[in-house]
Amino acid sequence: MQKYYGYRHIVPTHQGRGAENILSQILIKPGDYIPGNMYFTTTRLHQELAGGTFVDVIIDEAHDAQSLHPFKGNVDLQKLTDLIERVGAERIPYISVAGTVNMAGGQPISMANLRAVYQLAQTYGIRIILDATRAVENAYFIQQREEDYSNQAIATILHKFCSYTDGCTMSGKKDALVNIGGWLALNDYNLYEEARNLIVIYEGLHTYGGMAGRDMEAMARGIEESVQDDHIRARVGQVEYLGQKLLDWDIPIVVPIGGHAIYLDAKRFLPQIPQDQFPAQCLAAELYLEAGIRAMERGIVSAGRSKETGDNYYPELELVRLTIPRRVYTQAHMDLTAEAVEEVYYNRDRLRGLKMIYEPKYLRFFQARFELQ
Ligand SMILES: *Cc1c(COP(=O)(O)O)cnc(C)c1O
Repeated sequence: MQKYYGYRHIVPTHQGRGAENILSQILIKPGDYIPGNMYFTTTRLHQELAGGTFVDVIIDEAHDAQSLHPFKGNVDLQKLTDLIERVGAERIPYISVAGTVNMAGGQPISMANLRAVYQLAQTYGIRIILDATRAVENAYFIQQREEDYSNQAIATILHKFCSYTDGCTMSGKKDALVNIGGWLALNDYNLYEEARNLIVIYEGLHTYGGMAGRDMEAMARGIEESVQDDHIRARVGQVEYLGQKLLDWDIPIVVPIGGHAIYLDAKRFLPQIPQDQFPAQCLAAELYLEAGIRAMERGIVSAGRSKETGDNYYPELELVRLTIPRRVYTQAHMDLTAEAVEEVYYNRDRLRGLKMIYEPKYLRFFQARFELQ
């Protein structure tokens, strides 16, 4: 972790949300604000449980499924400055930046943008904490799309990218190619000491953080393999293969094609279903019925409710994520998936909305149950 991500101090955790819990407990006080480039489900919940309020400062293009901006994960510096001026730097414990933004469709943030955010944050004395879960994929897009980086190795770009942040949370289940595991990294020794102390309450000893020794060994190897240029090109290439097929058939997906998944645009796919009847959830269910494909709703169900008013959020993006696990599927699986999506698209007019009949209090998308309207 230190070699490839470059952070000074690391504590292992059982998975990414374990790191988010510890980080939020250490840094966030009730009444604080945490700006970020779009929310992530578990990250925002831990921020809220610690008494903070998440504020979305991603560029507007990120909320538009059809915008072709090459770095839709970028932070809008004006939105960030406005927030800092409005609430004061002392109420912002850190800026929460994600590499390839999941909820926007796996969209990257540019090196230039992160550097600018870092410079701005430094002038106000605010930390940046990276969600490094898919930072390797982000490095790949920087190599492909950003001037100055086309000749640099993924490992070099990743290291530089992380150097513009003060720490990270990590879900090893994604870029790092393992079944379970994660970590929290911090450059500040005093924060690290606090984290190391909390780990023994919530995760396990600071030497293993809830992971078995063999899982730690696997993650160490996974990190090493994940930053190989050939690996990451093949990985993102498989995602592009599926996406390009769907684009060729005029099936509405988020563009540009992202790093880890294809996102079906349920708003355009099922325009007859209003958002409060869960079009993306409906589409995910239909894909499962059609071909046994397990997709993930990333729309109104995932967005949840405002912690202040209890009302549903109505996100601009109403998506179904077809996430591609690393090193699991063949091209034939991609073909089958594309054909199943095409079949559902062909029959889309007969689909009806859903009713939520069970809603858990937290992270409802994991356990909610639905019925046909
Ligand atoms: C998966 C994920 C997490 C949470 O990590 P877990 O290992 O599932 O607990 C956090 N952030 C992002 C971007 C993720 O994809």
